[in-house]
Amino acid sequence: MDAAHVENDLVNVLFTEAQIQERIGELAQEIEAEYAGRELLIVGVLRGAVMVMADMARAFTRHIEMDWMAVSSYGSGTKSSGVVRILKDLDTDISGRDVLIVDEIIDSGLTLSWLTSNLASRNPASVEVATLLRKPEALKVPLDVKFVGWDIPNEFVVGYGLDYQERYRNLRDIGTLAPHVYS
Ligand code: 5GP
Ligand code: MG
Ligand code: MG
Repeated sequence: MDAAHVENDLVNVLFTEAQIQERIGELAQEIEAEYAGRELLIVGVLRGAVMVMADMARAFTRHIEMDWMAVSSYGSGTKSSGVVRILKDLDTDISGRDVLIVDEIIDSGLTLSWLTSNLASRNPASVEVATLLRKPEALKVPLDVKFVGWDIPNEFVVGYGLDYQERYRNLRDIGTLAPHVYS
């Protein structure tokens, strides 16, 4: 299946590649201003955040470091339960560091709530969260998110790192899947 066919599986495009790039540029500027004079460690949550990390990192004009975590969230199918297991931990000692967790989407917030407390217990100078997308209606726990690309309705979206059964991560746009994909 080629890229054009994959794009045809979207029933609507929420954000185009150009819109995503523009918003990520703005977020990077906001983040740089916030951390002026400090060297930031950005932590990407595998695998969804790969695209956001790659584009955001290149939008920064100052030195940053990148590290990665992989976590699995136990839950029924597509919903996370808040019970999280670390599959791949940081390679970096974050004590005394300014840490920014970068994710592509916050749904219930359970995963990031757990992750934020976990990293906070390692004595960093600070831990904050940046996400490209957030679903305010789906939030189940209070979660302080410092940088948000867009708030979106409570719908399942794919593309730009976001998968449906491990597919569609490589789409350049973000959109909603057409019903024929599910059947
Ligand atoms: P939560 O915030 O509920 O703990 O889980 C967030 C994770 O659930 C995201 O990192 C992502 O992997 C997955 N997720 C949540 N909403 C969506 C969505 O609309 N589309 C896709 N593809 N994944 C989602
Ligand atoms: Mg994620
Ligand atoms: Mg997924």
